[in-house]
Amino acid sequence: MLSVHEITTAYQGLVAISEVSIEVAKGEIVLVAGANGAGKSTLVKSIAGAERPRSGTVTFDGQRIDGLPQHQITARGIAYVPENRRLFPRLSVADNLRLGSYMYRGKADREAPLDLVFQMFPRLQERLDQRAETLSGGEQQMLAIGRALMTRPRLLMLDEPSQGIMPKLVDEIFRAVKTIRDTGMTVLIVEQRMAECLEIADRAYILQTGKILMQGTAADIGDNPDVRKAYLGL
Ligand code: ATP
Repeated sequence: MLSVHEITTAYQGLVAISEVSIEVAKGEIVLVAGANGAGKSTLVKSIAGAERPRSGTVTFDGQRIDGLPQHQITARGIAYVPENRRLFPRLSVADNLRLGSYMYRGKADREAPLDLVFQMFPRLQERLDQRAETLSGGEQQMLAIGRALMTRPRLLMLDEPSQGIMPKLVDEIFRAVKTIRDTGMTVLIVEQRMAECLEIADRAYILQTGKILMQGTAADIGDNPDVRKAYLGL
């Protein structure tokens, strides 16, 4: 479904990721892990169109998408939840969700994904009129994922959804990611909390200083002695 081939992305001449290739098949949950600064965010931004790769290609459903503006990439079915979530803090939960589906014309079409969002995150339904800025960190993350779901993506990309969230809600979010996949979506997730995320992922890549260090099934990566020592603290 998604094929990233040897992309290199740089910031003012400084290479952040170098010739990175990853594949994501339909229906998978794929984890991208790695230390701070390894280039995980740069990789998803380069797929989402938030950064432009200097070289390499990104193909989605057989069509090149690298170089397209971000809104066109969204329109093709890729939703991206950035690390900082980018909610509209002063708008209500309901309005933030509505802004996810503005591109659909009919009201029925715009509101159809709400059922899934509420099923996934009942807390949001209880807080529809609450301003986004007054939600807890975990609830804000739920809202950011909910808003992404409103675009009816085929591929959902999440950048560190567990960041700044209390453990109980992290579990809830990871469980939701699994449920989202079970409804037929595909998920690419960037996470530092590797141990928990390997439990829901099918496959994983480890990035180190801008390059793919290792890749494999979640089970193989989780059992790898080097990974256990260096990344899982075991
Ligand atoms: P973290 O987990 O800390 O978010 P990461 O693995 O997501 O890290 P990136 O954010 O992709 O890593 O950063 C990769 C490298 O690119 C880092 O050296 C970082 O300093 C650099 N970098 C990222 N964004 C920019 C930017 N806008 N301008 C300049 N350098 C950047």
